[in-house]
Amino acid sequence: MRGTRTLAAMRHGPIPGARGRVRPLTLLGDTVLREPCREVTDFGPELAVLVEDLFATMYAARGVGLAANQIGEPLRVFVYDCPDDEDVRHLGHVVNPRLVAADGVVVRGPEGCLSLPGLEAGTERYDHAVVEGFTVDGAPVTVHGSGFFARCLQHESDHLDGRLYVDHLTGWRRRRVLRRAARASWGGAS
Ligand SMILES: [Zn+2]
Repeated sequence: MRGTRTLAAMRHGPIPGARGRVRPLTLLGDTVLREPCREVTDFGPELAVLVEDLFATMYAARGVGLAANQIGEPLRVFVYDCPDDEDVRHLGHVVNPRLVAADGVVVRGPEGCLSLPGLEAGTERYDHAVVEGFTVDGAPVTVHGSGFFARCLQHESDHLDGRLYVDHLTGWRRRRVLRRAARASWGGAS
């Protein structure tokens, strides 16, 4: 998901993505964004490389979340470094995530995507979300989100099922963002 601010580097431990490679982003119109991603079955070194590349690519693009199919890998992995509405920073990755809860009030808020660069639209999302999955080492992990971070968790979970935020839009909001995508320099054709 696209972000609007730059986050400070971590004070402790290795900086996620520091060893990663910035990879080309897939864009609206690429079929890899429209197909459900595969479950990860091999928790080996290649998975750790993928997570590092996701962080490196997300930071280079000033995003707050990135799914593996956005760098052309059809696997169920996403990373995030995203504030919530209280400006608490949430940083991590999830392998084989399952969105186990999306509830609370529905909020329409501005949402963008690194696969539709430069565009955003008011998109409805639940205010609370819970994702269960695994770390790169295969340890179970549960991630709770509210506000903008809940939006991020829903957005990235959607990516792994082949969905984009434009799929949640109707009427003029949908027409406008698709028209702007078609006219954009990167030439998104839905
Ligand atoms: Zn996105």
